[in-house]
Amino acid sequence: MDSRIAKAQQYAREAGIDALLITPGADLRYLTGYEAKPLERLTCLVLPSEGEAVMVVPELERASALHYGVSSEIRSWTETEDPFDLVTSLLPADAQTLALDDQMWASRVLTLRDRLPDVRLALAGDVLRELRIIKSAEEIDFLRVAGATIDRVHDRMHEWLKPGRSELDVGADIARAILDEGHTSVDFVIVGSGPNGASPHHDVSDRIIEAGKPVVIDIGGTTRDGYCSDSTRNYIVGDQVPEAYERAYEALLAAQKAQCVFAGPGVSAEAVDRVGRQILDEHGYADLFIHRTGHGIGQETHEHPYIVEGNTQVLREGMAFSIEPGVYFEGQFGARIEDIVVCTEDGIERLNHTSRALRHL
Ligand code: ZN
Ligand code: ZN
Ligand code: ZN
Repeated sequence: MDSRIAKAQQYAREAGIDALLITPGADLRYLTGYEAKPLERLTCLVLPSEGEAVMVVPELERASALHYGVSSEIRSWTETEDPFDLVTSLLPADAQTLALDDQMWASRVLTLRDRLPDVRLALAGDVLRELRIIKSAEEIDFLRVAGATIDRVHDRMHEWLKPGRSELDVGADIARAILDEGHTSVDFVIVGSGPNGASPHHDVSDRIIEAGKPVVIDIGGTTRDGYCSDSTRNYIVGDQVPEAYERAYEALLAAQKAQCVFAGPGVSAEAVDRVGRQILDEHGYADLFIHRTGHGIGQETHEHPYIVEGNTQVLREGMAFSIEPGVYFEGQFGARIEDIVVCTEDGIERLNHTSRALRHL
């Protein structure tokens, strides 16, 4: 953690930022290991670009901060004190630019703006992105564990996905299995059967699973180490597959595989997106691929880099992201194939290993 703090300070200095103010969320967790509750009482890491960090916490959260092993000095405020006085007193005297974490509550941002009218406020995300976007060997191990954990859930789908059951029932079983297999939280469960599969971010409904109707299952959780999984596979009950679906699935699988082969260091994020889109285009499905190819993943399910047209960022070793092209036939069905991959020295390593073929149950 301390090396992350030091790097954040270095990047802050390079960006002309005098201090970072980080409230509970993924950035705080990344920098300090502290999984602070997002309470109305202010918890805030005050990280000057030079010097020592101080964790400001409500008095009643001090024990929790210590429990998480916060190594910086902890300064607590009591119920009748003003935490913003404490925070501003800890800033470098001549601070001109402060960077706030991207998800800081508006009420806090506005309070800080009022208290510090002459200080320029910037986003800490611009500084921390560079740090978080490259995963260390240890983080990649955590992501491997997350991937293997969600794979085990997909491998058990036959236990729950049966005709006559509702998406809700299946989803509840999946959620339990996500925990049973080793995640500590269930982040999302999408069971999109038939026409519901055509909505990429459908969750679950009371629709009943039917034979011959494809089902998109996109699931993810967080592991004990704080890293996320996210994998989509496609299932169908019985041997009857709608012909239009079968054809589209073949093209989709070819696109996803081509993207996995193409992605690697030195390739831009948008180029990976294009490779998949081009294959789907050749088969007449370009209009049905209505979202970007993927998103970075780590302590958050969606983070940088985003694999999308317009993102010219060049992929580098250590970046972890999803490759998840999809095709959506409104009113009928959908399909999406999603693997988490990590950029290696000479290509990518897939962190999901269940079969990408349409799975017959
Ligand atoms: Zn998504
Ligand atoms: Zn997903
Ligand atoms: Zn995803």
